[in-house]
This record gives sequence, structure tokens and C-alpha cells, in this order.
Amino acid sequence: MMPLKPDQLIRDEIRALAAYHVPDASGYVKLDAMENPYPLPAELRDALGQIARDAAINRYPDAAATALKARLRTVMEVPEGMEILLGNGSDEIIQILAMAIAKPGATILGLEPSFVMYKMIAAFAGVSYVGVPLRANFTLDLDATLAAIAAHQPALIFIAYPNNPSGNLFDMSALLRILDAAPGLVVLDEAYHVFALESFMPLLTRYPNLLVMRTLSKLGLAGLRLGFLVGRPAWLNELDKLRLPYNINILTQQIAEQVLAHADILEQQAAAIRSERARLMQALADIAGIEVFPSAANFILLRVANADTVFEGLKQRGILIKNLSRAHPQLQNCLRVTVGTPDENQQFLASLNASL
Ligand code: PMP
Repeated sequence: MMPLKPDQLIRDEIRALAAYHVPDASGYVKLDAMENPYPLPAELRDALGQIARDAAINRYPDAAATALKARLRTVMEVPEGMEILLGNGSDEIIQILAMAIAKPGATILGLEPSFVMYKMIAAFAGVSYVGVPLRANFTLDLDATLAAIAAHQPALIFIAYPNNPSGNLFDMSALLRILDAAPGLVVLDEAYHVFALESFMPLLTRYPNLLVMRTLSKLGLAGLRLGFLVGRPAWLNELDKLRLPYNINILTQQIAEQVLAHADILEQQAAAIRSERARLMQALADIAGIEVFPSAANFILLRVANADTVFEGLKQRGILIKNLSRAHPQLQNCLRVTVGTPDENQQFLASLNASL
């Protein structure tokens, strides 16, 4: 028998997807992926080296990640009575959530433009996805969002707070209206929390359908891949059944735990990034012909006359940022730059001026 070909076997909606593209960044000043540019202090790196040396990598890791969860509970000020679910990055948690609600006819609702994985993972899980457009300035259109919630009764709503790629925080009172109106779960994705210092974490006790998602990626540990979800045990105990056993490897567990024991270092780095963000924002605002959008995150969205030309000009000068021009109709001629070190930001600004 002739074996089936991919177009006969693979689901149509998967074949229609474009894979999440990660460009080769070697040799570039890397300002494309919202990473923390600062290394950890040498003494702490030595301690991490010891942990790697002594880790029992011949054994499976602690399936419950007890020590790491306990550390997260205190460092992240998780409200009493709430449970924590760990993911291999918050991407994996988005996937667990989508799989959990994937009944026939279920819908995931997102705001657009936002983090692209909400929509992609809905397709992975075979769940329909509804995107509600933000206004042209990327603020929330509350009426349109409430109308879409009423029409589609989404099982799951994803809201990035601050939003990626726009960088802004949506109006808190509008989000509370959404929480009141939502029939299903509402996930506040606080990936950029340390740069915003605003959070829904304290509201978990008030809203039974609220879940708060965070990640250590933007904090300085992107390479470890650790995300987490906080919410009521009644929800998280169900979601935990979809988590693959041992999804958090031993090195991630032990190294993240050790770094979080020195959370003050990460906090100092975040503070440096916040003040560099203000400086970069001001410098960008002073350049004619650029529209700069407000940011509570570690990146800045800007609009130029010709994003492709500017993006290529920067690349030729050794600076890699993100060209979002074709990512969404509302992002035409938009570029996103991650806040780097003062030196990297200076190089970016000089190259930008030369590329305009
Ligand atoms: N949420 C948002 C809003 C993001 O921007 C990102 C990464 N770009 C993620 C989640 C995923 O982060 P990670 O998988 O590294 O935890």
C-alpha cells in the first residue's frame, strides 16, 4: 500500500500554519526577543556551576518541583490558597490551557495584535479562535470585546498585561469588566510584570475565573524555560493532569531556585532596564519621523515611514530587532526593539538614525 503523504495525513489547519520563525542572531546586537541583556554576577554563576556539577542527572527530576514552587510562592507573592502550575516556558502553559478546554465548539478569545502563540496554539489544539481588534493606538476596545464575549462565549480569554507587541497596559477597570462578563477562564499573561509593576495577582482571591501567568524568561532566565500559572486549586488540579510528567528538568528546577533565592539581583537588573527604557523612549521621541508607543515592558514599539528599509539598514549595521510590518494589518511599518544595555541602546540609536 502507498503510504499517505503529509497533505493527506496532517490536519489542514496545521499545514496552513507558518512555523514560529526564529532568525539566526549570531554576530548581531540582539534586540529582537525581549531578553535581559545582563549576565549574573560571577559568584552566583559559580554557585550555579556547583549545582550543575552535583545534580543527579541520571535520575528523573522532582515531578512536583516542590522546592522551586515554594521559592516562587514567596518571591512572586502568590496569594494564600492559590496553586502553582509550572510549564516549560509559559508557551507550554498556553498549550495546556488550550488542550484542557478543547471541547467541540469551544472558543479561545484574544485581543489583536497580541502574542501570536495564543492563536497558533488554539490551532494546535483544534480550538476555534476569535481575535478582537485593539484600537489603532493599541488601547482596548471594551465595547467590541464585551460584544465578542457575548457572541462567542469563549471558554478561555488571553490578555497580555502589558501587551506584546504594543507594550502598553490595558485599562484596569476595563479588564475588570471583562472578568465580570467572561463565562470561562480569563488568563492575564504577565510575562513583562517586572517592567510594569502592575499585577492581577492580588485579585485572584476576588475573581474565581481569573488565572495569572508569569515567566522567568524576561527576567533574565530565558534559556532555562520556566513559566508558571497561578490560580485556584479547582482549576489547576485539572490542568495539572495535562502537564507531561517531569516537564521541568532538574537543572531548570535547581538553577531557577538558586537564582530566585537572589531575586534582588534580578530586581536590580529589571530596574536598570526600566530606567534605560525611559532614556531610549525619550531619545526615540526626539527623532523626527518616528511614532513611539508608550511601553510598560522591556521593549518599545515604533512606527517609521518604511519599516523594511529601516529593519534592513539596522541589520546591515549589525543590529537585530523585530520587523512586525507584516505581522498584522494594525502593525504596518512597525518595528519592535528590546531595551538592551546602555551601550547596545546607543548603538541602536546611532544605526537607526543612519537607517532612516
Ligand atoms: N507571553 C507573552 C506576552 C510573551 O511575549 C511571551 C514571549 N515572547 C511569552 C508569553 C512566552 O514566554 P516563555 O515561553 O518564554 O515563558
